[in-house]
Amino acid sequence: MKFEGVHEKTLVLIKPDAVQRGLVGEIVKRFEIKGLRIVGMKMMRLDEATLREHYAHIAAKPFYPTVEKFMMSSPVVALCLEGLEVVDAVRLVMGITKSRAAEAGSIRGDLAMGYGNNVIHGSDSVENAKAEVARFFKEEELLDYTKDEFMHVYSEDERV
Ligand code: UDP
Ligand code: MG
Repeated sequence: MKFEGVHEKTLVLIKPDAVQRGLVGEIVKRFEIKGLRIVGMKMMRLDEATLREHYAHIAAKPFYPTVEKFMMSSPVVALCLEGLEVVDAVRLVMGITKSRAAEAGSIRGDLAMGYGNNVIHGSDSVENAKAEVARFFKEEELLDYTKDEFMHVYSEDERV
C-alpha cells in the first residue's frame, strides 16, 4: 500500500450516546489537541442499510439489533481525520471497545462505561478506513487545506 504520510485518513463516528450526553465538543477537542487535521465533519442520521454495511463484521452477532437501534437513536457526527499513521493513532486515543475497561486517558476510558454505548467509532485498518471514509463522505465533502500547525506537530522528515 502506498505510504500516504500525513495524508493518511481515518473515519470517526461520534455515536448517539456522545451526542445526547453533550460530548461532541470534548471528543473533537481531543483530536484537535492531538494534532490531527479535520478534513471532513458533518452531522447525519444513519439508516439500516448503511449500518449493515458498516458493521458487516458484527451483523450476525446476537447484540447486533441493539447496536443498530442505538446507532439510529439520534444523529451522529462523522469526522474524517488526517495525520501520520492516523488510523492507529485514533484507535489508541479511543481506547478498547469495552469502555469501562478502557485505559484512563483514552476517550472511552475517560468518557464512557458501556460496551455498546462507547461514544465513538474509529476505523481499525488503513484498508477499512478507505472504505469507511468513502461510505460516509462524498469526495467534495473532504476539504484539502494547509494546516500550518503540521510543521510543529511533525519533524521535517516525517512531514512528507
Ligand atoms: N459491540 C457491542 N458488544 C460487543 C462487541 C461490540 O455492543 O460485544 C458494539 C460496540 O458499540 C462496538 C461495535 O459494536 O463499538 C463494533 O464492534 P467492534 O468489534 O468493531 O468494536 P470497535 O472497533 O468499535 O472497538
Ligand atoms: Mg470496529
